[in-house]
Amino acid sequence: MDNGCIFCQIVAGTAPAAKVFEDDQTLAFLDINPINPGHCLVIPKTHHENLFTMDRHTYQAVASTTLLIAQAIQQSLQPAGMNIFQANGEEAGQTVFHLHNHILPRLENDNLRVEVHGMQTAKPDQLLSIAATIQTAVQS
Ligand code: 5GP
Ligand code: ZN
Repeated sequence: MDNGCIFCQIVAGTAPAAKVFEDDQTLAFLDINPINPGHCLVIPKTHHENLFTMDRHTYQAVASTTLLIAQAIQQSLQPAGMNIFQANGEEAGQTVFHLHNHILPRLENDNLRVEVHGMQTAKPDQLLSIAATIQTAVQS
């Protein structure tokens, strides 16, 4: 398939990549601009722009391969730590619009700051209100 998507081209074999693993639904390969050695991307073989257009079955396959490769990187390269990162939309920093999980090995003093919490504790009522809104939207 040539839809102009570089990751679809890697799946099809028409663009090169340092492949790490593949099965029928997923592919893992090294990021071309690694933050640290072993920086790896895990993608579904079918084109999905982001999480919002994706079914749970396909994402479960991506999550399963992410776990497999994260453990293999930890065992083989023995980084000091590891982040799993995934961006949806330009505002979230997404630059390639084919869903991918980053497996990001961390080194001591690599100066990458990943902060996933704010500085202020929310009011309980605010949390309960937002939780209720999300609960209503959850599809089983
Ligand atoms: P995003 O910014 O969308 O979360 O991540 C996209 C990632 O894809 C970037 O880290 C970038 O280095 C990587 N990337 C972009 N083009 C290619 C490519 O052609 N080959 C590989 N292996 N990685 C790519
Ligand atoms: Zn694609």
